[in-house]
Amino acid sequence: MADPHDKLRREVRAFVAEAGIVARNDSWLRGYDPDFTRELGRRGWIGMTYPTEYGGGGRSNTERFVVTEELLRAGAPVTAHWTADRQIGPTILRVGTEGQRAEILPKICRGEVVVGLGLSETEAGSDLAAVRTRATAIDGGWSITGAKVWTTSAHHATHLYILARTGEGASKHEGLTEFLVDADTPGITVRPILDLVGEHHFNEVILDDVHVPDDRVLGTVGAGWKQVTEQLAFERGGVERYLSTYPVLAAMIRTVARHPDRAATERLGELAARLTALRQLGLQLAGALDQGEAPVRLAAGLKLAGTRFEKDVVETARYVLDVCEGDTEAHRLLVDGLAVVPGASIRGGSSEVLYTVISRAELPR
Ligand SMILES: Cc1cc2nc3c(=O)[nH]c(=O)nc-3n(C[C@H](O)[C@H](O)[C@H](O)COP(=O)(O)OP(=O)(O)OC[C@H]3O[C@@H](n4cnc5c(N)ncnc54)[C@H](O)[C@@H]3O)c2cc1C
Repeated sequence: MADPHDKLRREVRAFVAEAGIVARNDSWLRGYDPDFTRELGRRGWIGMTYPTEYGGGGRSNTERFVVTEELLRAGAPVTAHWTADRQIGPTILRVGTEGQRAEILPKICRGEVVVGLGLSETEAGSDLAAVRTRATAIDGGWSITGAKVWTTSAHHATHLYILARTGEGASKHEGLTEFLVDADTPGITVRPILDLVGEHHFNEVILDDVHVPDDRVLGTVGAGWKQVTEQLAFERGGVERYLSTYPVLAAMIRTVARHPDRAATERLGELAARLTALRQLGLQLAGALDQGEAPVRLAAGLKLAGTRFEKDVVETARYVLDVCEGDTEAHRLLVDGLAVVPGASIRGGSSEVLYTVISRAELPR
């Protein structure tokens, strides 16, 4: 069947081919390039699904799927806008105020908003409802005190999304509230955390009596748990959950084309088949988002299968580049991929936790 978005795909492909990109894995998390992001904004490729009245493209999630797929296939540097575009804009559309929509969405579409996601804490990662960061009501707003960890891009952020406890309830899932805090608010300290190869992309964020006005509450006070779990459908269900190591796969294919090897070809064939299945799942998810759904379980399934695929791509590359004499560029990408894969099945919810999300949804209540 003909691709209904073929024209769009060709446009993006032509743009990335001209852009002089040095491909890297995990380019949505490690590829911070504000100029590149703003160029994408000028081309209408950020906030594509947002309504036009807020500067968006008024297009479908399936069209966004096409654009994000082409950008990650090229290993393009898209970190600067990724989180804002993927989940903060959609959250503001779902639960935000009219004022927040009018103020923030056009800036996201222009590529001017960098968001650090302040969810995890030292005692609250998988068990997110255990957050200890507390927001206390003060005159006209809230005072937030606590500490977040592993906050990607906080050192570049214009805004910090903060999940904080604002009250107690019968269960720990009650009394949580989401905030979108201006990153230059007094009382915020960002400390770097280096990853296993010494790169700086995530951080510790200390919040010490940070005064946040009421209009920075996202959605309903106390309804943070429901809201954040819906947000995870956007966070877990995109192409970045199986294309983070695509540059390694592409390098392997080029290598095997130059140095044919039967066993290597068979392994690549298996990966190609799995990638096709993951794409179908990704498209199904984009379609569900277009219907206004928050397909939490489907997104968990995509992330679970996708991150396993990413690991297998790198494992296969160790073999293929050995038997097929891969070139320097292929080896650069393999080394880069080895640094990326350990985090893939942890960030955004570990695989063990995703099994629970999927199985709980299947069990009769
Ligand atoms: C590259 C990277 C980027 C990240 N970026 C961000 C970010 O921007 N913002 C942010 O807030 N966080 C971020 N994180 C943090 C990430 O979301 C957490 O690391 C993750 O949720 C796991 O939490 P934890 O580290 O506290 O591990 P734990 O929750 O302590 O888990 C440790 C181990 O125990 C297992 N486990 C835990 N609970 C269960 C259970 N109930 N059943 C079975 N097994 C269980 C886990 O699967 C894991 O293997 C990032 C992490 C990585 C690796």
